[in-house]
Amino acid sequence: MRGGLRKTTSRICNRKKRFASRGAAEAVAADAHVTLRAYKCELCRQFHLTSKTKGMKLPEFELIKRREAKLAKKADPKVLERKAP
Ligand SMILES: [Zn+2]
Repeated sequence: MRGGLRKTTSRICNRKKRFASRGAAEAVAADAHVTLRAYKCELCRQFHLTSKTKGMKLPEFELIKRREAKLAKKADPKVLERKAP
């Protein structure tokens, strides 16, 4: 990409929840139902969460979560199709 760094706008910063550390942010991300990623904000020097994970390396807990979901599906693929009697 040309034109240097893409800066986080202060509007987004103000709207978002702030975390003092990456660990605190990722703890919340691990609990969420959607894929979230922690990143350090240039403006407030704290951490925010983003759902934009495209092209980003997924955090460890997310890889584990996905792998387990895949394995569970493989182990019993008919579990979701089975109809109640
Ligand atoms: Zn910020």
